[in-house]
Amino acid sequence: RVAAPDTPSPPMLEVEALCRRFAGVAAVEDVGFSVAPGQVTCLLGPSGCGKSTTLRMIAGIERPDSGVVRIAGRPMSEGGAFLPPERRPVGMVFQDFALFPHLDVAANVGFGLRGPARQDRDRIAALLERVGLAGHAAKYPHELSGGEQQRVALIRALAPRPCLMLMDEPFSSLDHRLRDGVRDAALDLLRETETAVVMVTHDPEEAMLMGHRIAVMRRGRLIQEGRPDELYDRPADRGVAAFFSDLNIVAGRVAGGRVQTVLGAFPAPGLAEGSRAEVAVRPQHLVPAEAGGTPARVERARYLGRESLIEIRLEPGGAAMKSRIPGLVLPAPGSLIRVAAQPGSAMVFACENE
Ligand code: ATP
Repeated sequence: RVAAPDTPSPPMLEVEALCRRFAGVAAVEDVGFSVAPGQVTCLLGPSGCGKSTTLRMIAGIERPDSGVVRIAGRPMSEGGAFLPPERRPVGMVFQDFALFPHLDVAANVGFGLRGPARQDRDRIAALLERVGLAGHAAKYPHELSGGEQQRVALIRALAPRPCLMLMDEPFSSLDHRLRDGVRDAALDLLRETETAVVMVTHDPEEAMLMGHRIAVMRRGRLIQEGRPDELYDRPADRGVAAFFSDLNIVAGRVAGGRVQTVLGAFPAPGLAEGSRAEVAVRPQHLVPAEAGGTPARVERARYLGRESLIEIRLEPGGAAMKSRIPGLVLPAPGSLIRVAAQPGSAMVFACENE
């Protein structure tokens, strides 16, 4: 199910029903989404789910079996004609930067520029200045840190003013202390230049941090596309929910429009009476209850600084659960507490194998 894109201006990228098979096996199946100028869409999913193949088809490195890629309103293949990567208004940044080792920084950044020499020089200088590398123009890639190299790769891709930027795990080889700064610099620059961005990542936190929208893929298919808060608060299925945190899962049957579980009854709109359903509660939403809650035996309790992590076993049924509570809350192991899902926090899913 693809949410209607709430695009304020005409999309810069439109992908429709994209398909690609390798040796008869679908790597990408019926994938569609769009990206507005200045917006970042993160393709998120486990290894092998088809993220890179989707990106490569948008770039024109890989030929789709079927489907449409439109950039700035223009189809990238028409009547059998296929626009090669170098003729698409697209910039690319990959995990391994791929700077030219024998060219200095200025020549790397200017590599795709074909304007009058003076104009190109000004453009290169402005971009270097913009990412804090003004003093590094004459250096060679091996004389730069990883973060500096990645910033050079970014402005090299941006120098020819692409409509669309494609990035495949662009920050994953950076030290985590460098990563935040480089990400912020990239986001600022991409927004200023109104560039549309598709970024591949397998890291849900990075997708939340960078993406105006997130497209979750699984086994070649687009499972859900939407704003980060939509995916976090209203995941399409248990798999999407599990991407963003641990889950406590209880199962039950639907009766009277509610799933009846050991944690209580939860509204189950749209689910058939008598069918089995699962209820997922994130650990920060499973909290101690004064009365009414479900009895649970404390197995382990630890203070993590900002919050406490309490591992419990529900008394009826014996299911293991986790509860995260702000501050220092350490009930004694072996003691009996009562827990409940915070109102409105439970996510209800139809059981997949029913
Ligand atoms: P990762 O995060 O590991 O890069 P991904 O989500 O980007 O994974 P893809 O690289 O798009 O996944 O691969 C999707 C599927 O297509 C995988 O099963 C992969 O083995 C297969 N595949 C990709 N490229 C080819 C190819 N050129 N020939 C054959 N199979 C391929």
